[in-house]
Amino acid sequence: MYTLGIDIGSTSSKAVVLEDGERIIARALYSLGTGTSGASRVIDDLFENAGLSWEDIAYCIATGYGRQRFEQADEEISELSCHALGMNYLIPGVRTIIDIGGQDVKVLSLNEQGTLEKFVMNEKCAAGTGRFLDVMAGVLETSTDELGILDAQSIEPVKISSTCTVFAESEVISHLAEGDSIPDIVAGIHNSCAQRTAGLARRLGVTEPVGMSGGVARNTGVVHAREREIGAPIAVPGDCQFAGAIGAALKACQKAKSNPC
Ligand code: ADP
Repeated sequence: MYTLGIDIGSTSSKAVVLEDGERIIARALYSLGTGTSGASRVIDDLFENAGLSWEDIAYCIATGYGRQRFEQADEEISELSCHALGMNYLIPGVRTIIDIGGQDVKVLSLNEQGTLEKFVMNEKCAAGTGRFLDVMAGVLETSTDELGILDAQSIEPVKISSTCTVFAESEVISHLAEGDSIPDIVAGIHNSCAQRTAGLARRLGVTEPVGMSGGVARNTGVVHAREREIGAPIAVPGDCQFAGAIGAALKACQKAKSNPC
């Protein structure tokens, strides 16, 4: 039995097909999010990769910011429960999840049974989000996926004290004008983001094991800065950006089993 989970985020659309709620048989990602053609394109790619069509799908659940606009789904559910389910599949027994997507930062706390117990979210401000890092990468004339490599070359990270994206951008420009190296500026940006997330995590309490999900988890500089701030190792699964879609596909499997056709 195949179930489909789609996570339509603020900046990208991710989709996964699970076989019998156990094995991922196809995944696709399109860097366009809610309100765009991202969702339909990601489904086209997914079906093409897997050689499947809608007729093969027993149940589909949509999650993420744009979930209500995806009409092909049998159901839509919040990304918080999907992230908890998906991360528990990727890192069994995970107790704290730091999720950083394009537009928000969330910290989730799971109990020993893998159930979501509490969460905190920073959704009103871009600081520390993927969007913030995308803007900073633009100012530094690099790409977001180079940031981790640049961070690893830093010798003496600069201090970025503004948390507001606009002010932080002016600070970055001043550091460039002063001749600071790009790696030191990148590491300074990552440290300033990590301090904010650590504040959120401390409000919730950090229990190990800790895992990180979302596209920003692919940036090793961000991950290491957060490990230093919270004082605990952070596991990053290869499918970190697919956690929400995997959770939706797992939930879809539970639904399909309880409502067989
Ligand atoms: P959303 O669900 O809100 O659309 P995602 O979890 O898909 O967000 O993450 C999108 C963000 O991930 C982008 O804004 C970008 O900053 C970041 N990102 C994506 N790929 C990479 C990468 N290879 N390296 C670093 N950051 C990345």
